[in-house]
Amino acid sequence: MLTRYELERYDRQIIISGFGKEGQEKLKQAKVFIAGAGGLGCPVSMYLIAAGAGMIRIIDHEKVELSNLNRQVLHWSEDIARIKVDSAAEKLNRLNQEIKIEAIKEMITEANVSQLVAGFDLIIDAMDNLPTRYLLNKAALEMNIPLFHGAVYGFEGRAMTIIPGKTACLMCVYKGAIAEGKFPVIGVTPAVIGCIQAAEAIKYIVGIGKLLTNRLLVYDGLNMKFIELKVKKDPNCEHCGHLVKKC
Ligand SMILES: [Zn+2]
Repeated sequence: MLTRYELERYDRQIIISGFGKEGQEKLKQAKVFIAGAGGLGCPVSMYLIAAGAGMIRIIDHEKVELSNLNRQVLHWSEDIARIKVDSAAEKLNRLNQEIKIEAIKEMITEANVSQLVAGFDLIIDAMDNLPTRYLLNKAALEMNIPLFHGAVYGFEGRAMTIIPGKTACLMCVYKGAIAEGKFPVIGVTPAVIGCIQAAEAIKYIVGIGKLLTNRLLVYDGLNMKFIELKVKKDPNCEHCGHLVKKC
């Protein structure tokens, strides 16, 4: 049941057609795993918490650096050298004290990924490297948890939603590695993509709208264009091929 405080706090979204108190109740029950407290993780977590998602686990193994501050908006000048998830959790708590926030300072590895995401309803891919994205993709498929992908580079970004066994997965789309290391990025790009991921997550939880599945959304900020690339499940996909055959 929603309290009087919650009904007032979330009033403007509850009155959205198809959302209602039921949708808000679903948000309140939702447990969201956010991989990364950086450029994407900051806006995703802020908007999910502002919307009243019940429980958030945010994980990142890094500390705040000066060069993070152009885009990682939960980390401020005074947070340099602080553990990122601590800095993020503190601000997120102040944003909405009703939400349970779990901050984990750890690196996501093949050995711990299943344990970390177990019991969660959604996984948000707010990472900055493909190997970790693949770990999340595999775990999401194995554990039947939807995955909300986002990636940024300079003024460009991408987003896609993956429903295990039903839609194309990250491995179907990307296959193989993408260059690693320091990449260019301006803060507005993860803000746009992170908000798209959060919107997808909210729609999925509430059960409204049409998800960004089997479509890779590419945002080109320099020319201010959104392009949609149709993607298909690959029946021979290393990660989801067996699931495709099963259904
Ligand atoms: Zn696949």
